[in-house]
Amino acid sequence: MFRFESLLSRYFGIFMKVGLINIEPKIFNPAYMKISTYHKAKGHEVSWYSPLFDKDYDRIYCSSLFSFTDKSQIPKRAICGGTGFYPNVNVLPPEIESCSLDYSLYPKLDYSMIWFTKGCIRKCSFCLVNKCYKTITEQEWGKYIVENPKFTHIKIMDDNFFASPYWKDHLSYLQVLGQPVDFQGVDVRLLNEQMCRGLLTLKHHKRIKIAWDNPSDDIIPKIKFMLNYIKAYKIMCYVLIGYNSTYAEDLDRVLTIQSLGVSPFVMQYDRHNRYQKDFARWVNMKATFKKCTFSEYLLGKGKKNVRIK
Ligand code: SF4
Repeated sequence: MFRFESLLSRYFGIFMKVGLINIEPKIFNPAYMKISTYHKAKGHEVSWYSPLFDKDYDRIYCSSLFSFTDKSQIPKRAICGGTGFYPNVNVLPPEIESCSLDYSLYPKLDYSMIWFTKGCIRKCSFCLVNKCYKTITEQEWGKYIVENPKFTHIKIMDDNFFASPYWKDHLSYLQVLGQPVDFQGVDVRLLNEQMCRGLLTLKHHKRIKIAWDNPSDDIIPKIKFMLNYIKAYKIMCYVLIGYNSTYAEDLDRVLTIQSLGVSPFVMQYDRHNRYQKDFARWVNMKATFKKCTFSEYLLGKGKKNVRIK
């Protein structure tokens, strides 16, 4: 179908129809929210991409967070980026990165997002953060102030909140906002008394999330230190399995965390691996984890000859 606006866009740069491929529909993708703000500010029309109207779009974007997402149907002319396209992660150009978030893109999103920093001081080999950001960098966080009218809490999107030398300023800002907060994760290895006390001054939307990804990290003294200030039931600990870890190490970590009263949550490195899937289900279904051993869980599911490795 002939579109006059599309013609204007192509020849005079006046109007543009932008399509965003909703390749991971369960995810609220902030990259899309910034792309949308950027184009709408220029008077362009932004909508979710439909292959039926492929020819109508002047520009198509595809942003993915996960490498396992099927990308076979993405049109060749789409501009792609995000960790899901590793090694071609293509971070947003500065003129889009600096835009605010267009919350109207996701009517079901009920929280605000804020970044005080991006990047991390650590170099965990399984993590793509360092492939996107070479070091930890301060963001223009003032612009993120409660942009979402329907928010019930604020998600702190920082990769490593306490790694910033300005964490006290960031914390003060959250105290002023006064909304419940949800940290993506807190690096328990960095925590000192001031940081723990700082965490206690905030309302937390859910449990505070820490991680024990590498079995050889001596993390238990740090968790015990944290427990001097924050009650165990308020903490959840991610446990990455299947990345340089054995079954014995996986089991040891989840049981140790449980013995401290903290709730373990298993993350699979390979979502197609049978053992990792079973182990994650066993631990993450809290009642099952409390009730039976992993072997009992497998037998209960009729998996009599399962090789645990
Ligand atoms: S500490 Fe977390 S964010 Fe930082 S590199 Fe490791 S996994 Fe990534």
